Amino acid sequence: MQVAKDTVVSFHYTLTDADGNRIDSSRESEPLAILHGHGALIAGVEKALEGRAAGEQFVVSVPPEEGYGLRDEGRTQRVPKKYFKDGDRLKPGMVTVLQSQQGVHQVTVIKVGATVIDIDANHPLAGKTLSFDIEITAVREASPEELAHGHVHGPGGHHH
Ligand code: ZN
Repeated sequence: MQVAKDTVVSFHYTLTDADGNRIDSSRESEPLAILHGHGALIAGVEKALEGRAAGEQFVVSVPPEEGYGLRDEGRTQRVPKKYFKDGDRLKPGMVTVLQSQQGVHQVTVIKVGATVIDIDANHPLAGKTLSFDIEITAVREASPEELAHGHVHGPGGHHH
């Protein structure tokens, strides 16, 4: 069976940046299982999986436009320290969570002052060309229940 919309794909991946630094990998745990064609993955990876079968291993290079987007320098801002739960422990380069009226955002700390913190609200992987080393371990039809929920049930997916 080949990967197509409404199939469940299980795969291992190792993510590295353009300099070969390892960012993330599924190798120490279960393969990731996703419902294909429902936006569960960044566009570049979803496209690369299309038409593949279990047992295939390949490397795909994903530009920012098909990954986490381009960096927007306008998304840096100065925020009062009191808005951070962990404000006194933050250091430049750390990723933390900021709560605003628009919801919860993952942000990167640029600079810590006495009462304010400069943050970068771009996704930490924005602007990066990413390399995914992928091995597909299984492909199956999604169940009607999984399609109704829009996510995978069982190993590598939701348990409820
Ligand atoms: Zn569900």
